[in-house]
Amino acid sequence: MTIQLMDIIDYTTSDGPGFRTSVYCAGCNHKCKGCQNPHTWNFNGGKPTDIKEIYNRIIANEMSDVTFSGGDPMYQPIAFTELAKMIKTNTDKTIWCYTGFTVEEILRNPVQTQLLGWIDVLVDGRYDETLRDPDLLFMGSSNQRLIDAQASLRERRAVIYDYEPYNLRQPACVIHDNSKILKERNKEFLAW
Ligand code: SF4
Repeated sequence: MTIQLMDIIDYTTSDGPGFRTSVYCAGCNHKCKGCQNPHTWNFNGGKPTDIKEIYNRIIANEMSDVTFSGGDPMYQPIAFTELAKMIKTNTDKTIWCYTGFTVEEILRNPVQTQLLGWIDVLVDGRYDETLRDPDLLFMGSSNQRLIDAQASLRERRAVIYDYEPYNLRQPACVIHDNSKILKERNKEFLAW
């Protein structure tokens, strides 16, 4: 199974907390005015890449968590679900996913909902340049949201992910929370 892939970038720090391997796919039909990546809109852009190849690239980097971005991964939900399953079954990496769809729209689509089931945080909603806010963390405009994917799935509604970057006691998706090394350091720090 393949993903129409634009690029993979290691050690990104802008697509979620900590270091992340960002997987950028091709294809987006939202056509948000002011989109910074219109070159990714073409569904035939990039090149078809086997998900095993992408997975191997991801696991080669032990330190980093994972972000799916684009384009919009929710236009390739089946292949991204398979990739996410491999990551979640075999590693403790968190997965963030950027999409122009809202979580409410995704919950009405059974195929996209499958992908939601394997990710931790969804950064949802189309980019609205009239609501652009450069001070927002990990988002471009104030209509977009950090969504707790698992809680939203359970409750069948949008549950906001309460991200607190400086709270070392926060259990999920904290900076480097998948790095065993840093987890150990955090434990030592909290015990101290
Ligand atoms: S959803 Fe993202 S990639 Fe797609 S048009 Fe909007 S800003 Fe661009």
